[in-house]
Amino acid sequence: MKTSSLFNHKTVLSLEVFPPKRTAPVDTIYNTLDELKGITPDFISVTYGAGGSENSQTTLKIASAIKHKYGIESVAHIPCLNLTREDVLLILEQLKEQKIENILALRGDRVPDREPAGDFRYASDLVEFIKLHGDFNIIGACYPEGHQESGGLVRDMKHLKDKVDAGVSQLITQLFFDNEYFYRFRERMDLVGIHVPVEAGIMPVVNKKQIERMVSLCGVKLPKKFISVMERYGDNPIAMRDAGIAYAVDQIVDLAAGGVDGIHLYTMNNPYIANRIYESVFRLMAS
Ligand code: FAD
Repeated sequence: MKTSSLFNHKTVLSLEVFPPKRTAPVDTIYNTLDELKGITPDFISVTYGAGGSENSQTTLKIASAIKHKYGIESVAHIPCLNLTREDVLLILEQLKEQKIENILALRGDRVPDREPAGDFRYASDLVEFIKLHGDFNIIGACYPEGHQESGGLVRDMKHLKDKVDAGVSQLITQLFFDNEYFYRFRERMDLVGIHVPVEAGIMPVVNKKQIERMVSLCGVKLPKKFISVMERYGDNPIAMRDAGIAYAVDQIVDLAAGGVDGIHLYTMNNPYIANRIYESVFRLMAS
């Protein structure tokens, strides 16, 4: 099923998981998925380390298991910067064999000491290429606070419009902690004429280290309310975990009331947190 069709009926709830680190056997992901069994998401997406084609097999294996073993629609991420056209063609063939119809088409981040492969410069190049080589539902990434390298919000929106026009039928945002950025972003989408559904990416922050990493990696801004939570509970792991979950639930309730198309939960492969959030919000999603 193409996940873009889900938005006609309800507020979509999707989850994101990542392949286990190189030091852990890939099969440990099944423990995570088994423990998510209380949740019935509309789809689960699987990330892909931007290193190159060697990472594709793990992503494909997990996306295939989600679809065929767990009976949940899956989305495979493909970051293109370090892939050649031949690499992508091979991945598309494998996706067709596994009957996976949904791709999150990404540029990926630059890997230190590695020259990009040179065939794809932007995600929109990958979107055009996929369009030519199969009947896939293509999802794109977007940035309510603007992408760090875009040179400003106006340019970023223009590039996003080009990406959507190239063949993207739904969007997922980078995480954010202040819903106002999301609401302003939706207004900008309207202004430039982007009319595809957009899911809000929500990441429950449950420890101080995680947030420091996110701020330096994605450049997201932390609202005052969030900083107060960190200051108050940051050194108490259990209290910080509970506060992080409550903060994410609060964001989701506000977004659902604000008519969001969907919520994409960055689970960080932590079923306990995902389950607790789901218990709090699933009725909102259904209504
Ligand atoms: P693009 O859409 O190509 O945009 C990148 C930058 O280029 C932006 O600043 C844009 O404004 C600019 N730009 C676009 N087109 C043009 C143009 N024609 N001329 C000039 N500038 C242009 N990374 C991974 O490696 N693996 C993953 O699995 C992964 N999953 C992700 C999931 C989500 C939901 C999100 C939001 C991000 C994910 N990322 C992942 C991170 C992503 O790869 C990075 O954020 C990357 O820096 C940008 O990717 P993009 O697809 O948005 O790029």
